[in-house]
Order: sequence, then C-alpha cells, then structure tokens
Amino acid sequence: MSLPRASELPIGAVITEPGSSRRNKTGSWRAFRPVIDDSRCIRCRICWLYCPDGAIVERQGVFKVGERVYEVKYEIDYDYCKGCGICAHECPVKAIEIVPETP
Ligand code: SF4
Ligand code: SF4
Repeated sequence: MSLPRASELPIGAVITEPGSSRRNKTGSWRAFRPVIDDSRCIRCRICWLYCPDGAIVERQGVFKVGERVYEVKYEIDYDYCKGCGICAHECPVKAIEIVPETP
C-alpha cells in the first residue's frame, strides 16, 4: 500500500466553503436536552443571546399562551443543540429544563 504525498492530502484546519458547518449536525453529541416551558417564558431573548451554537431559534408570528399574546417565540433547534445547559442556567425565570436525552 502506498501512502499519499503531502501535496495530495486535503487542506486541514481551514474553512474552504462558507456555511459548511450547517452540514455538521452536532445535536447527535447530546446526552441532555433543553426543553422550553412556553408558558413561563417572558421573551427576554437571553437564551438566544448566550447559546454558543446559535441553536435557539426566534420565531416571528402571533402566539397565544393562555390569555397572553406574543409576537415572538423561542424554540430549540435540536439538529445543532449540544445540550450544554447554558441556556437553562441563564434563563432568568427558569423556563428551560434540562432533561435526559432518550433514544
Ligand atoms: S443547551 Fe447549549 S447548545 Fe443547546 S440550546 Fe441551550 S445553550 Fe444552546
Ligand atoms: S431566557 Fe428564558 S425567559 Fe428568556 S427567552 Fe429564553 S426561555 Fe424565554
């Protein structure tokens, strides 16, 4: 078996194509998952701000929660969430619970 020459190896440690990280669905690494209780969420956006993976999605629209009506809603994109728990730690009203990931 012959080994490839250095000039034949793919370039490493550089991003050769913008946006390519979207193909790497890091959610499969997760052992725990955050769950947002929409009835407790006060729409402060702190989870969205702190998530290191950009895995909190802000949805625009009209969302009725009991008697209240909101124009935004926050959801977790489980394709990319790694379950680090930062969002739950930072949420000022503890509207995010971290639960075990089930197969
Ligand atoms: S658990 Fe971590 S990666 Fe997942 S949404 Fe919260 S802050 Fe983002
Ligand atoms: S940090 Fe908590 S209260 Fe604020 S938007 Fe996120 S889930 Fe809602």
